[in-house]
Amino acid sequence: MLDKKKIKEKLERERDMLLDQIHDIGKLNPETNEWEAIPEELNSRESDQNDMADRFEDFEARSIMIKTLESRLNNILSAIKGLNRESFGRCEICKKDIEMDRMEVNPAARTCKKHLNN
Ligand SMILES: [Zn+2]
Repeated sequence: MLDKKKIKEKLERERDMLLDQIHDIGKLNPETNEWEAIPEELNSRESDQNDMADRFEDFEARSIMIKTLESRLNNILSAIKGLNRESFGRCEICKKDIEMDRMEVNPAARTCKKHLNN
């Protein structure tokens, strides 16, 4: 039997952690409801072409990072939503209960160990 309460707490902790990380490098655009990277703070140095290039690369890296964090966040959010569903904690492929130790590591898991790579 899965300990849903424990899993829910873990999911919520993970969600808060991800939100913190996203807030560090991005902001939510209220118009599109999408996360956007924010450029690093301007420093006092006079910016030359190289600086601009660095800043641009940094912005690109942040954008990619945000996409990664966002998709993890969405997984967590849909797992939280799915907690109350009958099918929660069951493998999408074979419909059997997902191993508890797997759920502990990844509460958003949707397949059992056997169907991990499907
Ligand atoms: Zn399975």
